[in-house]
Amino acid sequence: MRVHVVDHPLVAHKLTVLRDQRTDSPTFRRLADELVTLLAYEATRGVRVEPHTIVTPVAPATGVRLSSPKPLVVPILRAGLGMLDGMTRLVPTAEVGFLGMIRDEQTLKASTYATRLPDDLSGRQVFLLDPMLATGGTMAAAIRFVQDRGAGDVNAICLLAAPEGVARLEAAYGQDPGVSVVVAGMDERLNDVGYIVPGLGDAGDRLYGAV
Ligand code: URA
Repeated sequence: MRVHVVDHPLVAHKLTVLRDQRTDSPTFRRLADELVTLLAYEATRGVRVEPHTIVTPVAPATGVRLSSPKPLVVPILRAGLGMLDGMTRLVPTAEVGFLGMIRDEQTLKASTYATRLPDDLSGRQVFLLDPMLATGGTMAAAIRFVQDRGAGDVNAICLLAAPEGVARLEAAYGQDPGVSVVVAGMDERLNDVGYIVPGLGDAGDRLYGAV
């Protein structure tokens, strides 16, 4: 498993504004969107392409195009939805699936309540979107879910991670070269109710309000 913490001043700047409790929902949504596009640039470094010949106004040239099947982007509902536009802006031809997972706030265990994904993910490159890699329970379950359908190449994109969440993924997928995690920041720890410290609070609430 590869873990990449994106080290870029623009990412750090946007993340700082995102964390600020005074940042309102519209600004939070816009910044999350911009950050995801920057993270997606890194996370798609291994996206599969094939040679493609075109003709420029001057001469034929061989470049590349995305291979088929196209990458599959899967936001984990609800908060991952706030990352979808930022991702598809960079990869507009990607297909989009949905995975609804919720964590029990007492046990912190993740369970699946909705799915809209192809049954067969063999040969697909999958990009899972979830802003907060906290305990890692939801992301570990989501990776297992798509791997059970055949996905061999699974890339998690998160805004923030806690060391506990990364350790959980390492324990489950550390030996798996097909799993990667790209994050904008690695924080200190989890608090006793499973929130990332210093974090940014509840990402879903900050994106969509506390409904
Ligand atoms: N989910 C959130 O939205 N925030 C956290 O800090 C942890 C999990």
